[in-house]
Amino acid sequence: MPGKAFASSADLAAKEQTLELLADGVYALTAEGDPNVGAVEGDDFLVCFEALATPVAARRWLARLREHTTKPVRYLVLSHYHAVRVLGASAFGAEIVVTHENTRALVAERGQQDWESEYARMPRLFEEPASIPGLTWPTAAFTDTFTIDLGGGRGDLVLRYCGRGHTEGDIVAWLPAQQILFAGDLVEAQAALYTGDAFHRDWASGTLDALAVLGARTLVGGRGAVARGADACAAAIGQTRNFLDVMLAEAGAVHERGGTLAEAFSAAHTALAPRYGRWPIFEHCMPFNVSRLWDELSGIERPRIWTAERDREVWAELQG
Ligand SMILES: [Zn+2]
Repeated sequence: MPGKAFASSADLAAKEQTLELLADGVYALTAEGDPNVGAVEGDDFLVCFEALATPVAARRWLARLREHTTKPVRYLVLSHYHAVRVLGASAFGAEIVVTHENTRALVAERGQQDWESEYARMPRLFEEPASIPGLTWPTAAFTDTFTIDLGGGRGDLVLRYCGRGHTEGDIVAWLPAQQILFAGDLVEAQAALYTGDAFHRDWASGTLDALAVLGARTLVGGRGAVARGADACAAAIGQTRNFLDVMLAEAGAVHERGGTLAEAFSAAHTALAPRYGRWPIFEHCMPFNVSRLWDELSGIERPRIWTAERDREVWAELQG
């Protein structure tokens, strides 16, 4: 009997994109569980947050943004190295492409393999893949914080590293005056987490703690709807932490008693499904998530590199 269709390869229905104005000059584009993007107006320039999977996909987002502002893109901020977030970068014509220092290193180490892996996992997101000119490289990278003065009394946009989480190099974009947080894939609002390249224990503790203390009143996660109000923001962070905590508890118990990866997958899947099973990309993510967590529990410090071949092997073992 055939197993479930590989990753998101059978997810072919286009999602509706919604452009939301979060505050004066602050935009988010959400898409029913597809990757979110955002933009912040400076006095005479734009900061864009995330680049989508291809230049063609990015140009459709820019066309919608251009209904509101014609300012040039000075900064393109990329929250982490994943292909569906970065490979559309060339469409922005940005003066400066900003990432964390670790993201620059990850692009060099595994950017090509990640591109091939993500393309096979999520083909629908790669609109006209031939439009991608190559890997996306930052032109500015930082380690702790990177502050952009928006000018004209608009305040600062603060890019911040909060510790290892979804990857080794995630950053968030924080508007302190408006209390708006673009959290990248460190927080998901009613979408499943992808943890195949994650540091589960760091993410569930210090990294989410550092995000929570910012006190966001509006939060744009990596996928899912915009969280509006302090309670909704806390709920999104809490949902993310709970997902990680349940995985750690379930897979941890199996690991502790000398069980197998397949048993850990089954235990984590069973425990998470009632709350998260119907949310976007849950079934897609779980084999990769538990595989990485199993490595982490086994003392493998850094995530192993996903390749298109390894993806298929893990899928066949756990979801086949
Ligand atoms: Zn990601």
